Amino acid sequence: MSRTPIIAGNWKMFKTVPEAESFFAEVKGKAEVAGVETVICAPFTNLPVLTKLAEGTSIKIGAQNLHFEDSGAFTGEISGVMLKDLGVDYVILGHSERRAYFGETDEIVNKKMHAAFRHGITPIVCVGEKLEEREADQTKEVCKVQTEGAFQGLTAEQAAQTVIAYEPIWAIGTGKSSTSADANEVISYIRSLIKDLYDEATAEVIRIQYGGSVKPENVTEYMGQSDIDGALVGGASLQPASFIALVEGAK
Ligand code: PEP
Repeated sequence: MSRTPIIAGNWKMFKTVPEAESFFAEVKGKAEVAGVETVICAPFTNLPVLTKLAEGTSIKIGAQNLHFEDSGAFTGEISGVMLKDLGVDYVILGHSERRAYFGETDEIVNKKMHAAFRHGITPIVCVGEKLEEREADQTKEVCKVQTEGAFQGLTAEQAAQTVIAYEPIWAIGTGKSSTSADANEVISYIRSLIKDLYDEATAEVIRIQYGGSVKPENVTEYMGQSDIDGALVGGASLQPASFIALVEGAK
C-alpha cells in the first residue's frame, strides 16, 4: 500500500499577512512536487489571504486549532464552520503546545476531531511523550492513551482520512530529534493501535508523520523509514528555501 507523503509546516504564532504573502509567492510552484502533499498551517489571521493564494495550486492550507462548537458565546474562538468558509483543508489538533499551555485534554481533542469532520476539514492530530515519560519507558502507553482518546467515536472512514503526527515533546523546537529508527518504531506501534481500533485496511492507509526538529538535512532519513509518511515541521518551515527543500526531500 503506498501512502502519499505529507509535509506540513506549522508556523505557530509567526508571520504577519505581508510576510505570509511573500512566503507564498516564493514557494508557489517550487513546494509543489509530484507525489508529495504540501500543507501550510498558518495563524488564523493569514488564512483568508493564503486560501485565496493557494487556489489553483496544489498547496493546501491548514489552521492550527478550532473550537469544538460550531458557534456560540466563546469569546476569541474560531469554529470549523468559519474555517471551512475560508476554504481551509486541514487543522492541527492536540499539538503539545496546546495541551501544555491551553489545557487541552484528550477529551477536548476528541471533540475537536468530531468538529473538524463535521465540516470536511482533515485533522492532523498530534500525539507524543514528554522527556520524563520517555525516560520512564512510557512512550507507547502515552501514545496509546492519546491515540485512543483522539479517535473515540470516529468511523473507520474518518480515521483513514486523518493524519497523525507523532511528536515527541522533547524533540520539538529543541534541535534534538528522535533517531529515524526510534521514530519509526513508535509510529509503527501507533499504526498497530489503529489496526486494533479499526482494521488492517484503515491502518494501512492512515498517514503518520514524524515531528520534532525535522530540517532539510534529516528529512530524507525519516522518509526512508517504512512507517513514516511525512513530517510536521515548525522552525524549518518558516523560511521559503528550507520549506521547499523539505518538500523536495520527501519525494
Ligand atoms: C512542531 O511545531 O510541531 C514542531 C515539530 O516544531 P519543530 O520542527 O520546530 O521542532
